[in-house]
Amino acid sequence: MKTHIKNRSLNEITEYALAKGQPAFRAKQLFEWIWKKQAESFGEMTNLPLSFREALEADFWVNTLETADEQVSADGTRKFVFALADGQKIESVLIPSDGRITACISTQVGCALGCRFCATGSMGFVRDMDFTEIHDQIIRLMKLSAARYQTTLDNIVVMGMGEPLLNFDNTITALDRISDKTTLNFSPQRITISTAGIVPAIIRMADKNLPYHLAISLHSANEAKRKQMMPVAQKYPLPMLTDALKHYHAKTGNRITIEYILFGGLNDAPEDAAALAQFCRSFPVKINLIQYNATSLGTFGSSTAADSKKFVQFLENKNIIVNLRKSKGADILAACGQLVKNSNLKPDIS
Ligand code: SAH
Ligand code: SF4
Repeated sequence: MKTHIKNRSLNEITEYALAKGQPAFRAKQLFEWIWKKQAESFGEMTNLPLSFREALEADFWVNTLETADEQVSADGTRKFVFALADGQKIESVLIPSDGRITACISTQVGCALGCRFCATGSMGFVRDMDFTEIHDQIIRLMKLSAARYQTTLDNIVVMGMGEPLLNFDNTITALDRISDKTTLNFSPQRITISTAGIVPAIIRMADKNLPYHLAISLHSANEAKRKQMMPVAQKYPLPMLTDALKHYHAKTGNRITIEYILFGGLNDAPEDAAALAQFCRSFPVKINLIQYNATSLGTFGSSTAADSKKFVQFLENKNIIVNLRKSKGADILAACGQLVKNSNLKPDIS
């Protein structure tokens, strides 16, 4: 049975090379291809002897992802469906904006948290992605960025399918391998992990002093409304979340990004803006206001342009940094919250 080469240490690969009659330095060359040179197959490792590549090919995988589908939005956003070795599918997105390319990556097949507005949440939890699958995904997207946009990847946002902080070790291991100085040296400052608010994992990020940006999907600073939209808020209510974020800021010194979808008539009134401003007093923040992207889940609607503008102005008057983010890729169901296993949910845009 083939296994993934990314699960093997340098020592193990060295032993393997020696057993195949190769000098030990072949293992180092192989490691460079895997971790530094973004190899996705043994065939491209041209400085290794053909017989050794054939042996490796028979025994190991380098990248288990198959690109099963690709769609291009009118705005240039591209959505990819990747099939994993067991046939499960995940989606990832490349988003061009102001000459930069951002990759939105997945960490789980499905999601257990069931936020009422999210298509991924509606499919339930299937399984965690292994660190090799998350790493394979990033490498594939780096290659695809070069191939489709003729430029290297600038940013990674962990905002695809799944809750990354419920798959902590696999997610962090993959990101650490990408940002390690001896491998791709991808700046951790250009990586953002988004969470629905898993308090113990936020504390863990703080205590490990992880260098990645943290984004919190808040969506309401009113406890009752948040619980209504996000069942996870029952387990981790706002005071707990506030304490965890204070701790995070105290330990890391990092500013926290707050994500807030503007839903028409639900969380976009002046009193909602006031509650949000109050929530943001405990630590330095940047607020990303997100347009609601329609899914077939019903019940939610978008905020009007006038209400959104008032909301922004309220926060700006409090000297809070606010971005009103334009949604990208909605025509191919690639926008935030629209990613699902089989793209079988149709947008409710009537
Ligand atoms: N599970 C993590 C990361 C994946 S979701 C989290 O919830 O943060 C990435 C972002 O998309 C989150 O901010 C989420 O709230 C948002 N999102 C989900 N459904 C959406 C929708 N229909 N429209 C706009 N944003 C949505
Ligand atoms: Fe899961 Fe995030 Fe979707 Fe909520 S918004 S269901 S946490 S993926």
